[in-house]
Amino acid sequence: MLTLNSEIETLKGVGPALKKKLNACGVNLIEDLLFLLPYRYEDRTKLYPIADAPHNERALIAGRITDSKILFYGRRSLSITIEDETKKLKLRFFYFSNSQFQQFKNNSHVICYGTIRTDSKRTEMIHPEYRFINSKKELKGDETLTPIYSAIDGIQTGRLKNLIRQALNVMKTSKPQELFPKKILNDLKLPNLENALINLHQPPPQTDWSNTEDTLVKCRERLSFEELLANYIRLRKLKLLAQNTTATALKDGNNKVIDFIQSLKFNLTPAQKKAYKEILDDLDKKRPMMRMLQGDVGSGKTIVAAIACLKAISNKTQAAIMAPTELLAEQHMESFLHWFGPLKINVIKLTGGQKKTIRKEILSQVENGKIDLIIGTHALFQDGVVFKNLSLIVIDEQHRFGVNQRVALRKKGEALKKQPHQLIMTATPIPRTLAMAAYADLDSSIIDKLPVGRKSIETIVIPNDKRKSVIDRVKNACINGEQAYWVCPLIEESETIKADAATDRYDHLKDILKPLSVGLIHGRQKNSEKENMMRLFKDAHIKLLVATTVIEVGVDVPNASLMIIENAERMGLSQLHQLRGRVGRGNKQSYCILLYKKPLSAIAHERLSVIRETNDGFKIAQKDMELRGPGELLGTKQTGLPQYRIADLVRDAHLLPKVQKIADNMMNNFPKETKKMVIRWSNSEHDYGKV
Ligand code: ADP
Ligand code: MG
Repeated sequence: MLTLNSEIETLKGVGPALKKKLNACGVNLIEDLLFLLPYRYEDRTKLYPIADAPHNERALIAGRITDSKILFYGRRSLSITIEDETKKLKLRFFYFSNSQFQQFKNNSHVICYGTIRTDSKRTEMIHPEYRFINSKKELKGDETLTPIYSAIDGIQTGRLKNLIRQALNVMKTSKPQELFPKKILNDLKLPNLENALINLHQPPPQTDWSNTEDTLVKCRERLSFEELLANYIRLRKLKLLAQNTTATALKDGNNKVIDFIQSLKFNLTPAQKKAYKEILDDLDKKRPMMRMLQGDVGSGKTIVAAIACLKAISNKTQAAIMAPTELLAEQHMESFLHWFGPLKINVIKLTGGQKKTIRKEILSQVENGKIDLIIGTHALFQDGVVFKNLSLIVIDEQHRFGVNQRVALRKKGEALKKQPHQLIMTATPIPRTLAMAAYADLDSSIIDKLPVGRKSIETIVIPNDKRKSVIDRVKNACINGEQAYWVCPLIEESETIKADAATDRYDHLKDILKPLSVGLIHGRQKNSEKENMMRLFKDAHIKLLVATTVIEVGVDVPNASLMIIENAERMGLSQLHQLRGRVGRGNKQSYCILLYKKPLSAIAHERLSVIRETNDGFKIAQKDMELRGPGELLGTKQTGLPQYRIADLVRDAHLLPKVQKIADNMMNNFPKETKKMVIRWSNSEHDYGKV
């Protein structure tokens, strides 16, 4: 008899290969499957007469086939006509096989789920999901909403759905483990775990997501609450642990820091001064610093990090900087060579793309202490990298690194007798209340003002059909010695598709802008190609750089003063703001042109107005949160906030004060359950004892 505690391979269809993939995502027991929630639902509960079916949104309809033929004009397509008592409707398929065509026999009945669209020429449903039906009895909608699961690494959604269905069956005779005491759930007015899971996987049709009292909304809140709590407790433990370990107190080198600051070509802003003082205060202590440095794009975080590194190095210890991409590591390398070269500090770069022999040489120099500062990507913290005496780790653009990485870093430190100090930098402004919960393990410094003298970027919003004038503008700017970025549409979260789209755009622009030199950069290129391209752009050998959103974080080319962003209506505010921050880095007036495709939804319209009207990252972050409607495609993914499995920091922000309160109660009075909860949600090795 299967129970929810049975191993995953006891389910039908789970062989060694699938087991391995599931284990890799933290799914070991049947119960774990139940925590993979649908990310959205489709309503196929109502079967519409064709005449009444809504247009431009998905609907379920059915009809008798009266005609089917392949059309050859325009793009080859399969056209099927169906009708019910109320109306006729055409179905159209662009991708189809011959056997599919044969299936659509006249007078057979088909039930379809898809979107009916109308343009000036025709009304039709394109590529519906469909199923043939044999009897009138089947002519009805589903009983529950249809859950849609996202695929997880290498496992198709269909397969996943099947496994989850099996798990739900097991749940009929075996209860999931409730880790909250009844009293707490009652006080919070939240359902128990079993009810929450059943409802979320098989929701009743009358769900209203905008109603906070709706059963299903409460069920989701129940799980979000547990997840937020588990994470919060994990972070608090992490902080406690840090307070009980020792780090090297970095006492020396104050004069070197002062000299260095005086040697800079600019004066530090008051906000930068405040931040670096807070950091140096921490470094002075025998406890490892765990501090986050927040500051908008261009606010000058790097120089603050440099001061911290200089302090570490002046104490005869090593510092390391980890960047999210090779491009950024390369750029930091340049800045630090520029700043530290004259000081006889040895700086080196370590990335994944380097040759074995070079890597070996670098590693030996890091190990014997010849290198003072090592800059790299996550390759920095892979096995085989041994530091002689690392005292400070700087992590740049932290939103790419989650809690699990922070824990992994600490583990790396365990090998050393002393923990390194950690400085985590992010350009994502995080409202205070969210930061307390999401970064409960970190102290915080904020750079809230840009350096003086920056010209604010002028942002212009233009519909796609006027792109010709935009291209002329790019041409003129480049002829006048300026440089520009052209950011390609965000089509899908697939690097391949993005790369193809960027390549097409590149070919086209290169052609019409002849003889201007145009470059291309996208995520599918080799790192060496990307770096090379970036260097050509930086050295102004390339005037226009066509790019996907790979340029999003941190890249600095002061001479670039114009940016075009295509399909801006599909991007989140925070992402647009990050992209726009690539220009306006020099002393010229910079412009950002947002191209959009009509028609604009109300939210997209407002989003574009916000980005046009303000350059203030904190304001934009706030608006980004307010403007994410419930049905929106953009998840937290684009806000730069930490990702959770079920919870959403913005949507669930109202739970955070309760999370903080209940955490103490759980830790003090229910330690066993608390431990299980942290393990359930940490999705990684059982590291609870350590953190
Ligand atoms: P970010 O915070 O986005 O990482 P950077 O550290 O890359 O920003 O800084 C952006 C640019 O501003 C760099 O060229 C840097 O040298 C310059 N900069 C930093 N601080 C100041 C300052 N106080 N005055 C003038 N320019 C500065
Ligand atoms: Mg930066």
